[in-house]
Amino acid sequence: MKLVRFLDEIKKKTGILEDTHITEITGSIEEAFDNPDKCLKQSTHNLNEVKILPPVLPSKIICVGLNYIDHARELNMDLPDEPVIFIKPSTGVIGHLDPIIYPLSSKQVDYEVEIAVVISKKAYKVKMEDADDYIGGYTIVNDVTARDLQNKDVQWTRAKSFDTFCPIGPCIQTQLDPSNQKITLKLNNKIKQQSNTKNMIFSTPELVEFISNIMTLNPGDIISTGTPPGVGPMNIGDIVEAEVEEIGVLRNIIKN
Ligand code: MG
Repeated sequence: MKLVRFLDEIKKKTGILEDTHITEITGSIEEAFDNPDKCLKQSTHNLNEVKILPPVLPSKIICVGLNYIDHARELNMDLPDEPVIFIKPSTGVIGHLDPIIYPLSSKQVDYEVEIAVVISKKAYKVKMEDADDYIGGYTIVNDVTARDLQNKDVQWTRAKSFDTFCPIGPCIQTQLDPSNQKITLKLNNKIKQQSNTKNMIFSTPELVEFISNIMTLNPGDIISTGTPPGVGPMNIGDIVEAEVEEIGVLRNIIKN
């Protein structure tokens, strides 16, 4: 099931995405994680007639720094013993088709396609074998990065945190094997990143255990699991498409 949030004229609504239409449901996405059968199915909307919103409004987005074997090889780096994590602020979140704003203070803004875990309920000190109980589904994050500022600063906060630097969406896929998904990024319709999530160093259950032993994860929080090889720059006017096989395509345009 693909869950979406959308704007119907001025009303924010939740629905189930099927091909080119959305079936509106009652309640929030978090309630749908809990008990999808309880959410009453209502009217149907044509996908082209509504605006897709970010599927969740996370209190925080926890990102993993280096998590693909093929990306580590590309960078000539040793595989990490434990995940390197950082946080993107909730104010960076935008949705499918929203513009990424190129900041004046950067000369190199890169794309990073990532598959992301959406937390369904409060999670603290969760064991990896129980992780599934706390995962509502999976979505796509483009971990937009001002690479020149990342290289200049010791901490990555500035490089990762500009407004609009966290596109999320277009939907949350609730049934998916996160350990075997084709993951692709296209810039102006040319493939720039292509791998499979089976090349991940730390699996999604391992990440839920590792991170929930540091901090409490709230419903709607996002764990973005790292990017495969091929990261590179975007320019104003470019169209960037982050794709995960069974989730869909997250499309954004770069603007100034
Ligand atoms: Mg990243």
